[in-house]
Amino acid sequence: MRHITFVRPNLGTGPSADAMAPLVFAILRARTPDDIATTLIDERIEPFAPVATDLVAMTVETFTARRAYEIAAIYRARGIPVVMGGHHPSMCPDEALQHADCVVTGDAEGVWEDVVADARAGRLQRRYGHRPGTADPGPIRFDRSIFAGRRYGPITLVQVGRGCRFACDFCSIHAFYGTHRQQRPPDEVAAEIAALPRTPLIFFVDDNLFWRRDRFLALMAALKPLKRRWSCQITIDVARDDELLDAMAAAGCAMVLIGFESLDRANLKQMRKNWNGVSGDYADVIARLTRRGIMIYGTFVFGYDADRPDAFDAAAAFARSTGMAIANFNPLTPMPGTGLYARLAAEGRLLRPDWWIDPAYRYGDAIFAPRAMTAAELRDGPMRARAAFYALGSILARAAGGILGWRRPGSIAMMLAANFVSRREIRRKQARALSSGEPLPTLIEVKDAAT
Ligand code: SF4
Repeated sequence: MRHITFVRPNLGTGPSADAMAPLVFAILRARTPDDIATTLIDERIEPFAPVATDLVAMTVETFTARRAYEIAAIYRARGIPVVMGGHHPSMCPDEALQHADCVVTGDAEGVWEDVVADARAGRLQRRYGHRPGTADPGPIRFDRSIFAGRRYGPITLVQVGRGCRFACDFCSIHAFYGTHRQQRPPDEVAAEIAALPRTPLIFFVDDNLFWRRDRFLALMAALKPLKRRWSCQITIDVARDDELLDAMAAAGCAMVLIGFESLDRANLKQMRKNWNGVSGDYADVIARLTRRGIMIYGTFVFGYDADRPDAFDAAAAFARSTGMAIANFNPLTPMPGTGLYARLAAEGRLLRPDWWIDPAYRYGDAIFAPRAMTAAELRDGPMRARAAFYALGSILARAAGGILGWRRPGSIAMMLAANFVSRREIRRKQARALSSGEPLPTLIEVKDAAT
């Protein structure tokens, strides 16, 4: 075996303006023997043009599963084996095995090496992997040479660890990692960042950067001398702690993504996130962050039982009035493997149980029957909230408000760029089919396809 192709399928067709480098392939490249060449095809930034290869490895999310199955078919028709890994195959391995020769569940570390060795020896197995935390995966390593010459946004992705200490019922991260958590030593992370080229922003991809107070403070201390600007995802409890916030601001934090989810306490309780608080607390948290020049990227989800049709406008108004730099308004999406999916299935409320492969499903459709509104209201309400939040007047008003709060001119430029990209992507994705449904191109025969 001389060549492996890594594929990152897209959602729908056309390039994505917000595509970031798929870090998983830097992990796989780092664990692929040097004598095997690799090619990355990322459909979000380039048209799909498959090259001849010996093995295909795809990372599959639930939203890209249908497209991944389409792409796998072209390779398998030529006798080229296809390996699928990532969240969706981990949650639905039997389904993925209908479209792939091999499925990897859980993390790639400690497993990918076996897949490559077996493929080389012509004895590829149908299943590999384990639940995260049940085996020592060894250190997390990256080989970013796989991204050389590619046109991703000017943001460097870094991963400190995996897992989250909470258990929100809709969360696919919790479904994947359970109670397992893992974090790299702060000095190792700082050394990696110091060796990376400078970009306007570093984004820590961890779903919750905060695990333990002592580790978090040690990470902030290690980041501070680097003088880089960065953003991360944290839970709201961090933003209630002045010492942690001061450490973040001093270490270069420019923006935090916080899942506010709902302004209704009953909804927060139902999603097992009642520790989040309610809008009065939210306003206090937002003020604490803004005082330190840290921008807020807030996310909201709709469709829990207490949500009525006015929930969308209320959330959009709240996000605007509190000066959030960016916000997401999404219909609740039951992902396979989550507690939410199991509950809605048990209640007989799933309108499209296999929505990710249902050809009639369109991005943004309601997947289940909400209690206090219609399915059409659940589909249309988030778009209304997005339209209000990303209206030109709203963007300019929030940017003007941010001049005093965020202070740095770079923050305003970053906020404006992110808002205009979001405006475009929202329109591109809504009501899209999850795959093209068109015939795929045939393989391009090349002698030396290499990274
Ligand atoms: S806090 Fe965030 S990452 Fe953690 S379980 Fe809840 S939704 Fe998932």
